[in-house]
Amino acid sequence: YHEALPVPDHPAEVHHLGLEINELLQSLNEQVLRDHQFVSDASHELRTPLTAIRGHISLIKRRGEQHPEIIPRSLNFIDHESHRMETLVESLLRLSRMDHVDVAGGYYDLTKLVEETVTNYRENLPQPIRLHVPPSALTAYVNADSLQQILVALLSNASKYSPTNAPITVTLTTLNGQPTVTVADRGMGIPDDNKPHVFERFYRVDQARSQEIPGTGLGLAIVARLVDLNHATISVHDNQPRGTIFTLQLATTPPVGA
Ligand code: ADP
Repeated sequence: YHEALPVPDHPAEVHHLGLEINELLQSLNEQVLRDHQFVSDASHELRTPLTAIRGHISLIKRRGEQHPEIIPRSLNFIDHESHRMETLVESLLRLSRMDHVDVAGGYYDLTKLVEETVTNYRENLPQPIRLHVPPSALTAYVNADSLQQILVALLSNASKYSPTNAPITVTLTTLNGQPTVTVADRGMGIPDDNKPHVFERFYRVDQARSQEIPGTGLGLAIVARLVDLNHATISVHDNQPRGTIFTLQLATTPPVGA
């Protein structure tokens, strides 16, 4: 027993249906390509440290007995790289879970949310955080968890890529009628050529430059996904005289059709 598909009678409708099916197939195709790229990027990122770890294990096996002095260095390396892999796997899991995460929004007093997040997080950072909020409440339509995750990721980057005494400024304002949060630092900045790429998965500005600074290149990809899910926007600019500003603009109402 098959439930009959509603077959349209008019050629125009058939044509329209054909177009819709085409569009659907195309978007499925793009999705498959994206997933494929994701899996292949992730494998590459995991394989690199794994290869290095195995290299050091094999070195210890071959030469450790005759040259025990190489062992501590190799063990240190293995320890460091395996921690990096662990962080990477955690971030990858977070990113992949985001396909079915619940980001139901609500009306929130942004001032309170931002104040709370900054208060809870500032103890983790060596830099002083300055917080500027408007005198009256600022309401946004947002998922509170998402907003906190976004802010923590931006604060953590601002801290990682700045000297330990350079203050970080969080400002809450209204920009073009939209509630806006900016996170500004006085750190190393992001060259213009790199700015358009920082939200891509695994992208890190100049591996050599950020080699000393631990990271996976996934933090801002997760941020971009959360921003999308919350119908918000994010952009990145230079701070003056140095450093970076991330500008997050939030919605004031639920998305149309939600
Ligand atoms: P990571 O784990 O490498 O920090 P992110 O996705 O969070 O990855 O950021 C991507 C890259 O963007 C970083 O590797 C860094 O080069 C650059 N970046 C991000 N935030 C800042 C910042 N506040 N100042 C300077 N560079 C930054």
